[in-house]
Amino acid sequence: MFEIGIQLKRERGAENVFDYSIGNPEVEPPAAVIAALRQVVAENRPGSHGYMPNAGYPAVRERIAAVLCARTGVPFGVEDIVMTTGAAGAINILLKSLLDPGDEVIVLSPFFPEYRFYIENHGGRVVTVETGERFELVPERVAAAVTGRTRALILNSPNNPTGVVYSEDQLLAVNAVLPEPVLVISDEPYRPLTFDGARTPEAVAIFDRAVVAWSWSKAMAVSGERIGYLAIPPHVGGAALRGACTIANRILGYINAPAIWQWVVGMVPEATVDVAAYQEKRDLLCDALQSMGYDAPRPQGGFYIFLRTPVADDVAFTGMLREEGILAVPGVGFGRAGYVRLSLTIAREAIERSLPGFARAMASRLRGH
Ligand code: PLP
Repeated sequence: MFEIGIQLKRERGAENVFDYSIGNPEVEPPAAVIAALRQVVAENRPGSHGYMPNAGYPAVRERIAAVLCARTGVPFGVEDIVMTTGAAGAINILLKSLLDPGDEVIVLSPFFPEYRFYIENHGGRVVTVETGERFELVPERVAAAVTGRTRALILNSPNNPTGVVYSEDQLLAVNAVLPEPVLVISDEPYRPLTFDGARTPEAVAIFDRAVVAWSWSKAMAVSGERIGYLAIPPHVGGAALRGACTIANRILGYINAPAIWQWVVGMVPEATVDVAAYQEKRDLLCDALQSMGYDAPRPQGGFYIFLRTPVADDVAFTGMLREEGILAVPGVGFGRAGYVRLSLTIAREAIERSLPGFARAMASRLRGH
C-alpha cells in the first residue's frame, strides 16, 4: 500500500490522494510524553544507553505492574512484566516460549494479518475461527476449533480491522469453552481508544488464563519507537514461562525494549492521545458513507472502519476507490472478503475532500461498473 500510495501521489499530486490504508497515528504524542522524553534526555543518567536486564528496567516494570494492578484488580508484581519491542515483540516472545512445532493458535477472523507470521515464526499452526455477521464472538465456533494441540487464542479488542469492542458477557462465554492449558493472548494496542465513553473489559480479570500484549504505538502515537510489554498475571504460568519469555526477549534478535522509551513510558504510562478527534472523524465518515447507501458499521474503538463493499469483490472495489485517489485495504487480507478497511488516522480535512470520491464509487457500482 505504501508503494501504491507513493506512485499515486506522483501521478495525481499528494493533495489528491486520500490514504486510508495505514494505522499510523497522524497526531503528535501528548505533551506529557514529549516532556518526559526531554527530562530523560536532560538527566542523561550514566548507563542510559546500555544493555539492561532482559526483562527491562525493574523500576519501570514495577510502575507498570502498579498501574495494571490498580486498573484490572489483578495483583501484578514486577516479575510479571517483560518490557518489549511493541505488542509485536510481546506476542512473539510469548509464542516462542509456548509453542512446540505443530501446536495450534486460534485467531478470530477477520484478523490482523501479521498474526499468521507471528505464529508460523515459532512453528505454530494458525486455526481461524470466523466471528459473526457483526464481528461478534461466537463461542460455539471457538469450542469446535479447540483440539489437543491448541495452546493459545489471540484476542484483539478494540479490534483491528473491525473496530468492535467485545463485551464482558461475550468474553465470559468464550472463557467457558476454553479448556486448560489454552492461554488467551489479549493484544491491546488500542485499549484506551474507545468511543462514546465505552470501556474495554479487562481480559486478564475475565479469563482464567490470559496475558496482555501491550503497545504504546497507538495510545501515545509513538509507533516508530517500538515500546510495549507482556504482562503475565501471577496465577498464570510459573517461573518457567516468565524465564522463557525473558530469554526470548533477547534471543529473537531484537534484544530488549528501547532503553530511553522504557524510562519515558515509566514516567507517564497512561498518557493517551485525544480520542475525541478520532471519534469526530468516525462520525463524519460513518454518517457520510451511510447517507450514500454504504453499510458502514460504526466502530466502538480503535482506528478503523470496516466497510462492506457494495460489490462482492473487495479487491475490485479498492480498484474503483483508487480511481478516485482513495487508498483502502481489501478485507480479504484480513480474512474477510467483501469489506475494505479505512483508517481514521487520515486528516479530517482529507476525509471531507474524499467524500465525493466515495459517492462516485457507489454510483459507478450502481451503473454496473
Ligand atoms: N496488534 C494489532 C492488532 C495491531 O494493529 C498492531 C499494529 O498495527 C500490532 C499488534 C503491533 O503493534 P506494534 O507495532 O506496536 O508492535
